[in-house]
Amino acid sequence: MLHNSFTAALDDSHTKFYVVNITTFIFLSVLYWFIALRYHDKQKTQQHSNAQISLDRLQLALEASQEALWDWSLNAEQEVFFSAAYCANLGFTQEEFGNNQQAWQNRLLPEEREQIYRKVMRFIAEGEGRYDSTYRMLHRDNSHRWIRSRGELIRDTAGKPVRFIGIARDITEQRATAERLKQANAVFECTHEGVLITDHTNTIIHINPAFSLITGYSAEEVLGQSPRMFKSGRHTPEFYRAMWKALEADDQWSGEIWNRRKHGEILPQYQTIRLIRDENGFISHNVAIFSDISVLKDSQSELNYLSLYDPLTGLANRSQLYERLSSSLRSMLELQKNGAIFLIDLDHFKNINESLGHSIGDQLLQAVAQRIAKKISSQSILARIGGDEFVVICETINPPAEAAVMAQQIIKVSKEPFLLHNNELFISASVGICLYPRSGNSVEEIMRNADSALSKAKASGRETFAFYSSELTEQALQRIRIASELRYALESNGLQAYYQPVYAMNEHTLVGCEALVRWNHPERGLIPPNEFIPIAEENGLICSIDQWVLKQACTQMHVWLTAGAQLDFIAVNLSSRSLSNNTLAEQVAQTLHHAQLSAKHLELEVTESAMMEDPLSADIILRELRDIGVRLAIDDFGTGYSSLARLKSLPVHKLKIDQSFISNLPNNREDKAIVRAIVALGASIGLDVQAEGIETAEQMDFLQKQNCTLGQGYFFGRPMPTDDFTQLLNNSVLLQQS
Ligand code: C2E
Ligand code: MG
Ligand code: MG
Repeated sequence: MLHNSFTAALDDSHTKFYVVNITTFIFLSVLYWFIALRYHDKQKTQQHSNAQISLDRLQLALEASQEALWDWSLNAEQEVFFSAAYCANLGFTQEEFGNNQQAWQNRLLPEEREQIYRKVMRFIAEGEGRYDSTYRMLHRDNSHRWIRSRGELIRDTAGKPVRFIGIARDITEQRATAERLKQANAVFECTHEGVLITDHTNTIIHINPAFSLITGYSAEEVLGQSPRMFKSGRHTPEFYRAMWKALEADDQWSGEIWNRRKHGEILPQYQTIRLIRDENGFISHNVAIFSDISVLKDSQSELNYLSLYDPLTGLANRSQLYERLSSSLRSMLELQKNGAIFLIDLDHFKNINESLGHSIGDQLLQAVAQRIAKKISSQSILARIGGDEFVVICETINPPAEAAVMAQQIIKVSKEPFLLHNNELFISASVGICLYPRSGNSVEEIMRNADSALSKAKASGRETFAFYSSELTEQALQRIRIASELRYALESNGLQAYYQPVYAMNEHTLVGCEALVRWNHPERGLIPPNEFIPIAEENGLICSIDQWVLKQACTQMHVWLTAGAQLDFIAVNLSSRSLSNNTLAEQVAQTLHHAQLSAKHLELEVTESAMMEDPLSADIILRELRDIGVRLAIDDFGTGYSSLARLKSLPVHKLKIDQSFISNLPNNREDKAIVRAIVALGASIGLDVQAEGIETAEQMDFLQKQNCTLGQGYFFGRPMPTDDFTQLLNNSVLLQQS
């Protein structure tokens, strides 16, 4: 029916138009669908390539981030996609590795496999949050790799998990680094060594607890500061320069450095500084690690101390003594002088130890050490070399005479009672003396000889001394006897002043005299000063003798002057010891005052050599003497080494030409020349010149011709006792009157 209607319509124009329209519509529809499909295809292609680009991008990003991909289909096959990177992390290709869940399980560590697998399954079952698990997997080479795996569940519309997808990363290196850092941090925190880290500007950015413990500074006090704040000031700038130079060359420096703790004490430390450089080679940090070596230093100095000192007395010990003795021997050989070594042994010390105990014994030894130390000069060395054995090395004395005096003093101080814990203890000492190099050319020989001298001293009844050479011992003992007798003589009027006249040669008039001491020995008779003055000089008795003679002379001069004698001066000799007595001028003034003698009548004679011993002090004392008005003469002139400059500046009035230049006059050419020179010198600087030791008229004639005005000698008169001199004065008055 439709066909018929259609045919009928063909005939109809209206119908024709309708057909055309229908055809057009169909055509346009087809065209539309064609275009739409083409567009859709294009869109699809475009979408596909966009997805590919994204996928590639994702792939690249994953590779760059070192993340590997896994994608687990939670279907019956349990297929898993492991990305190439995933497999490569474990040393496989994708084909080798496999693509199911079992392949993964196989690479887990057998002992952990169960636990890790269960964790995954629990996550899939519970599916809460994100999956994040770290575990170990076995690499193809059997090493363990730490893997961190993170993932998410993808569910279907019903909420059932269908995929489990995620990324995995090999974190083995990171973990090792973290592990190392953890260990380093533990070390940093717990080590006993101080650690300080600065940045590239040398600003402190980190310290450890030990640092605070050692230096006393807390972190707040040092962070942001410069390590310069610890400087002790003990090192020179060169030290720091050398340190930085070494650091720049080797990136590391180690050595001892003295810093300062917070409270100011010096901190000796052993320090290692290490420069840390960044990848471009620039210094990024300095790390300083140090240990406190003060204890080490203390024990080192304690060891040093113990190796050189005796711990009980603090004196040098045997090894130090040997060292000192050996260097002293060398210098004595060089100077061609003799040093003396005293080996001191306490007599019967053993008894003290046994009866009173070692503690008292120790205290006694300390007390003995102190006493001996006080007796010896500061340049001498005192050592303790054994239980009760002490040694003194002395270079400054004039052996053997002074050595004997010193030995005696040591014996004397040991003899005085010691008061310990209310007990009076008595002890004595024996001393063996060896002069070196005279009696010993090596340390061993000197010690051996000192020891045999000590045995001699002990054998001769202890409490005495002996030299290694018996002849020296004899001499020394003799001198000591003389000294003690002399002391007695001084106290008991055993000394006597003699007076020797001095003449003005031109007029042959008596103008003065020199007081010369004599010793009236009960057995030996009159002893000349040359025999006892040197001994008196050794033990200091000379000062008392000088004072005694001065007093006698001044008193006597006053008597003579009062009696009308025409004497200009009385001369008194002063020893070098008197010349170092600071109160000499005061004492002289007092003596003059007591004797009622005007200072202008007193002449003090000082030898050239005495003035040279301690020139500064001599200058002061001589000036003080001149200021009180006494006259000063240089005795034995020509035998010493006065410089002309010094001579000119000295406050003296007279030169006394030494008799050694007079005795060979007038025949000896040299002596004649010397005498002429001295006279000329005196005249040129305004000093009187007096010749001594004139024995003959020829000598006097020669001297007179040289304009030497004053003379003294046997030719005019010998030194004589007071009465004789008074007689001489009387005679000379008579002579002048007649
Ligand atoms: P000096 O002060 O140079 O005294 C001169 C010495 O020469 C005296 O010896 C005297 O007796 C001696 N003498 C005088 N004329 C002649 C002579 O023509 N021929 C010879 N051969 N000798 C002559 P002395 O009295 O034995 O005194 C020696 C030294 O002792 C003195 O030398 C002096 O340095 C010292 N001395 C004497 N008395 C004292 C004193 O009281 N104190 C001090 N410190 N020293 C004194
Ligand atoms: Mg004299
Ligand atoms: Mg003289």
